[in-house]
Amino acid sequence: MRRVRVVGAGLAGAEAAWQASRLGVDVELWEMKPQKRTPAHKADGMAELVCSNSLRSDDVNNAVGLLKAEMRILGSLIMEAADASRVPAGTALAVDRKKFSAYVTDKIESLPSVTVVRREMTVVPNDGVVTVIATGPLTSEPLAESIRGELGIENLHFFDAAAPIVDGASVDLDRAYFYSRYGKGDAMDYLNCPFTKDEYDAFYDALVTARTAELHGDDGDLTVFEGCMPVEVMAARGRDTLRFGPMKPVGLPDPKTGREPYAAVQLRRENVAGTMYNLVGFQTHLAFPEQKRVFSMIPGLENAVFLRYGVMHKNTYINSPGTLSRTYSLIKRPEIYFAGQMTGVEGYVESAASGLYAGINAARRALGMDELIIPATTMTGAMGQFVAVGGLSADFQPMNANFGIIEPLDHRVKGGKRARNEEYARRALEAANEIKKIMEETR
Ligand SMILES: Cc1cc2nc3c(=O)[nH]c(=O)nc-3n(C[C@H](O)[C@H](O)[C@H](O)COP(=O)(O)OP(=O)(O)OC[C@H]3O[C@@H](n4cnc5c(N)ncnc54)[C@H](O)[C@@H]3O)c2cc1C
Repeated sequence: MRRVRVVGAGLAGAEAAWQASRLGVDVELWEMKPQKRTPAHKADGMAELVCSNSLRSDDVNNAVGLLKAEMRILGSLIMEAADASRVPAGTALAVDRKKFSAYVTDKIESLPSVTVVRREMTVVPNDGVVTVIATGPLTSEPLAESIRGELGIENLHFFDAAAPIVDGASVDLDRAYFYSRYGKGDAMDYLNCPFTKDEYDAFYDALVTARTAELHGDDGDLTVFEGCMPVEVMAARGRDTLRFGPMKPVGLPDPKTGREPYAAVQLRRENVAGTMYNLVGFQTHLAFPEQKRVFSMIPGLENAVFLRYGVMHKNTYINSPGTLSRTYSLIKRPEIYFAGQMTGVEGYVESAASGLYAGINAARRALGMDELIIPATTMTGAMGQFVAVGGLSADFQPMNANFGIIEPLDHRVKGGKRARNEEYARRALEAANEIKKIMEETR
């Protein structure tokens, strides 16, 4: 059957439909807008950016910048649209969101092999047609219920609040120190960032005046967060509230002074290797750039690399390790693929990249071809692998592109992190060009 169905015309679904159609299959693309909308979607076009208009760094030596470069090589529609609707934003790639969405919509709608069906899909299809489900973190409830039935309740999460995660190597260990509260447990499980009173006051003032992310429609959603209050909301209750809550310094003596600091932020190890740490109790609704600005004021995090920002919204995602393969197909029903944020990748570009990977392989399956494995030496392939096997921590949580998940280099590189990232990028782009060649030969 030379047909693929894609459900959801967001970042991942639009890219999957594009890639599948380029490989010569007929594509049926289902999108429930404008008949029905998620709380965040407002416009009718495809690939709607629901919040920020930034697709983050465009530097190839940065993880998400590298991902973009690979996607450009592999003929990504989302990258083509982003480049065509770019607005000035320094080294970041920011876009005019209307132009961006219009570009994607026009391109898809003008493809003779694509039929757009403006309807909600309410069940996981069971008719043998190769299908890519890319309905996003706000998947409509009937379909979410059907996915839950298909995968088992324990395999579909709805997380509403998450604290930021930083790259462990970017924490300044001259300021932060390893210690588990009261010396109980493994000291290496926590890094503590100690505040003086002046530092706390400056941080507090910045936190309570920082800009929160815009709420989208269903403001009532936030009522579910009562048991898990955003740090900025807690801070607004009083100058010292955090010092008795998530910034409590008791039992955390600073080895430099032998005394407890005025306040402390604890970073909890996110994986066994200690490459990632989350900010304990710092679930937040601040806008992403504000999180970077304000949380970089935490002593020890001045140059921290944020691997994931905190979020306070509904986020439907699959407990993918063991459930999805690295090409994003459902292991027990390989004709069903998932793509986008719901697979456990995090971010606009990451979602689109998973759509690219799933779309290519859905089409190849429909054409009776072998799947195309994109190696984990690329960021695109590394994300597929991350989704299939997970990180080292027990809890699988969505993750931005980062160099912690890419296959390690087989040789040492002198010159520090920058030189190492350049080497990762060189190797990844070489591999992406190889994949492009294979795709061209088999098209
Ligand atoms: C409120 C919010 C803010 C975010 N802000 C950012 C940000 O600033 N930067 C960033 O990088 N990432 C952000 N994200 C995370 C993520 O990058 C985006 O959600 C991204 O759009 C995910 O892409 P996707 O293709 O997986 O899903 P989406 O882009 O959401 O696309 C899913 C599509 O499926 C449709 N759909 C849903 N259910 C059905 C159904 N049953 N049948 C048919 N169609 C259906 C929807 O209408 C939608 O068009 C945010 C997420 C949310 C929820």
